[in-house]
Amino acid sequence: MRIVIAGGGLGGLTCARVLRVHGIEAIVCERDAGPAARVQGGTLDLTVEGGQWALREAGLVAGYRAIARPEGQDMVLYDSGGTLLRREVAREDDWARPEADRPALRKLLLDALPAGAVGWGQAVTGAVPLGDGRHRVSLAGGETIECDLLVGADGGRSRIRPLLTGAEPAHAGANGVELVIHDADRAHPAASALVGRGSFSALGDQRTLSAQRNGDGTIRVHAMLRGAADWAETSGIPFDDPDRARVALKDWYAGWPEEFTALLDATSGPVSVIQLTALPVGLRWEHVLGVTLIGDAAHLMSPFAGQGANLAMRDGAELALTLAEGGDVRKFEDAMWERAEPWARMSAENLELFLSDGAGEKVRDLFASMAGE
Ligand SMILES: Cc1cc2nc3c(=O)[nH]c(=O)nc-3n(C[C@H](O)[C@H](O)[C@H](O)COP(=O)(O)OP(=O)(O)OC[C@H]3O[C@@H](n4cnc5c(N)ncnc54)[C@H](O)[C@@H]3O)c2cc1C
Repeated sequence: MRIVIAGGGLGGLTCARVLRVHGIEAIVCERDAGPAARVQGGTLDLTVEGGQWALREAGLVAGYRAIARPEGQDMVLYDSGGTLLRREVAREDDWARPEADRPALRKLLLDALPAGAVGWGQAVTGAVPLGDGRHRVSLAGGETIECDLLVGADGGRSRIRPLLTGAEPAHAGANGVELVIHDADRAHPAASALVGRGSFSALGDQRTLSAQRNGDGTIRVHAMLRGAADWAETSGIPFDDPDRARVALKDWYAGWPEEFTALLDATSGPVSVIQLTALPVGLRWEHVLGVTLIGDAAHLMSPFAGQGANLAMRDGAELALTLAEGGDVRKFEDAMWERAEPWARMSAENLELFLSDGAGEKVRDLFASMAGE
């Protein structure tokens, strides 16, 4: 059985690795030119039943523990006026949802695959059914690959999804801006102290400002704001001039404590805009023999429940196990939909909550109830 996985993100690589553990080869077609072609983003907290479960099936628990930071679960939550609403301090042996840098996680998975398992620079442009569940996959370079099972692990803008459903991600009514503080401890001690070992969040006035320590000495700062898909063009912020953009972004936080907006001053390098989009909550499709989707390709959601990577990795591992056991892909899809739907709903609800007036107090109460207090 020839398996092609479109996309070598966390979902696709987990699937390839767990297949390999069970002696099954897969071809991974990845659009990036190489592992270092693109900045991979910041830190991710992997849950016991999500990413950690998948890494156990991948035989990579020891490698994960070497890169994970339990202390990264520390957090402080403020309102937009500067009142501290909640502080959590993690024990060094708290393995509930430790943080790990996304590049380190991706490397862990890549290093566990044989050389040549990932075809770099292989952007999938689409696929056509050949009958009996077989598909011919087209690559941007003009090459084609035929396979018995095609796995769409190519993220929110999947080129495989149209084989199964006409659903497309819709703009979620909010956008994010990502900035990076480099060499935080030495060059920006005040920002470093505010963020501590984990994360800082301030919420209110229908916007958020958050900052999270990464394992590489950087702190990633995120601003989340309500706005339409064209917000980057209409906001008046000159994103093509990062130094002016940082200053202009501070106007959106007028009246917030100077200590908080100083986080923006401490950043350097590009100011990246992230449009928040999501697939319909509870998306399902009629099963089609020989093709399926995992991760964001199947259930893209906003990051407000912190589950996208966890679900993608669990999907990848579950699909691999289903195939290794000779099981039915339909059953895998049923379980994936059931797993993802509550999180997709929570992500949509949390987006409204986090970007509401007085969000700080509401989110403090949410965290308290989640902690059983
Ligand atoms: C700001 C932000 C913060 C987040 N924080 C968290 C968090 O804390 N915890 C969490 O669990 N999740 C988080 N997420 C969500 C998480 O990043 C995604 O859900 C997760 O990366 C999905 O994994 P994936 O493998 O399905 O897709 P992706 O990570 O998008 O990987 C898809 C891969 O496919 C490749 N690709 C795309 N198109 C093609 C093509 N046509 N041909 C070949 N290859 C292609 C891409 O290059 C990429 O390597 C966050 C997301 C954002 C935007």
